[in-house]
Order: sequence, then C-alpha cells, then structure tokens
Amino acid sequence: MPGLPLTDTHCHLDLMSGENLAVLAEKAPAAGVLTFFVPGVTLNSGTSDLSPVKIFTNPSIKIFSMLGVHPGYLQDFSETAFQRQAEIRQPFMIGEIGLDRRYEERFSGEYQASCFRSQLGTARELDIAVSLHIVGRHEKALRIIREFPGIRGIVHGFSGSPELAREYLRAGFLLGAGPLILNPACRKLRKTVSVISPDYLVPETDAPFLFRYDGSRKIPAQPDLIPDIIKETARLQGKNYEDTAAAMIQAVNRLMPANTGHL
Ligand SMILES: [Zn+2]
Repeated sequence: MPGLPLTDTHCHLDLMSGENLAVLAEKAPAAGVLTFFVPGVTLNSGTSDLSPVKIFTNPSIKIFSMLGVHPGYLQDFSETAFQRQAEIRQPFMIGEIGLDRRYEERFSGEYQASCFRSQLGTARELDIAVSLHIVGRHEKALRIIREFPGIRGIVHGFSGSPELAREYLRAGFLLGAGPLILNPACRKLRKTVSVISPDYLVPETDAPFLFRYDGSRKIPAQPDLIPDIIKETARLQGKNYEDTAAAMIQAVNRLMPANTGHL
C-alpha cells in the first residue's frame, strides 16, 4: 500500500484487550496507520487510561485523546465534572457525544439532548472539534448543532443518505467512513460515499466494536483496515487511491488545531 501516513479517526484503543492490541501494534503501522483518535465513552475512558497503548513501540505513532460521554452512558453526567475534566485533560476533541434512539428508555430524549448541548458548549468554548454519535435522531441532532454556530467535527459512523450527508456538511461536519462501506448490503451508505467528495470523508474503524464482512466470514475491524476503506471509497467514486487518500488526509488535517499535542 502506498506510503502516505494514515489516521484512524475513531478507534477505542483504551477498550481493546492486550492480545488485540499486540496484533494491532504490529499490523497498523505496517499498513501505514500511524495516527489514532481515541474517543471517550464515559468520563473515565478515552483519555484517562491509555496505559495499554504503551504497547506501541513505533516512534511515529501519534495518539490523540478525546473527552466525551456517549449517549448510552449518561447515568452520572454532570456538567461541572465534565468541564473540570476538560480543564485537566485538555482533550484535542470532544466525543463521542450525541443522541441515540436505542437508549431512550433509559435516558430520555430530553435528557440526552441536554447532556449533548452541555458537551457541545464545552467544545465551542475550547474551540475544538467534536465527534458525533447519532442513531435514529439526525433531524434533532442537526437542530441542536445549529444552535452552536462555528461548531465543527466528524459525524462518526455515518450511514445515512446523500441528502442527510449534505445537511451535515452544510452544518460544518465531516463524515466518518467506516468498515460498513465494505459491506455490499449497505447500499444506501455506499451510494452516499460514491457522491460525497473525499474532501469531506475521514476514515475510521470504531475498533473493537465492528466487523468487516468478507463473504460469509465476520472479521473484527482493526485499524489496519483503513487502507481498504480508502481503497473502497476511491473505487466507489471512480478515482485512484492516491488522490482519494490525499483528500481524506487533508480532511483529517483540517480538524487538527495547529498547536495540538499528542500523548
Ligand atoms: Zn465509538
């Protein structure tokens, strides 16, 4: 695979087991994947314990941590505690945050929206990007993010229509293209990827939670899958790998504040 350094923009390194990580530490750099964005799911994930990642010995590896409380883990959410963590940890992004219809029995839509707004407010105050996790509540999510002019980020795991994709682009967001685009059954998503400029697509795996579909076999999606995701994006768009990879890398770079540090 060509030598451009690649980024996995959504990878739960801190939630991976030792064995998975050992494989990943070897395979990801070999596939050219040297940068990882690690989302937070609870106040104490994402940023606080990245000790397992010490397994990466390659000096070119860069790991960027986010702070965020996922809509399925809002039981202890407190705006004060969240802002305090943001001050202490100085995350490079806020995420993954958003709305998820599947958790509404546990956390009402109203409660999810209020936690979402609170985290978006912190992101805007710090002038950093956000990683959105939105399931089944896109219209509402778009209404809420429009309350925060200037907010920017990635819609993680995007799987919607071209029309919905364009709504998010207009609202200042990039779309996270993940392992689902490799699944021929995901027709709507593949259609979207074929018509959205790679300037607005960033690659992600959501490891260790997703699979790649390889015929009848399900193979865990690890970050070394990133070149395949870019290759498939290029194929769906009728473009070559190098140009698509370069555009997607540019898209990632637009998110990174100039002075950002890494762990
Ligand atoms: Zn995730």
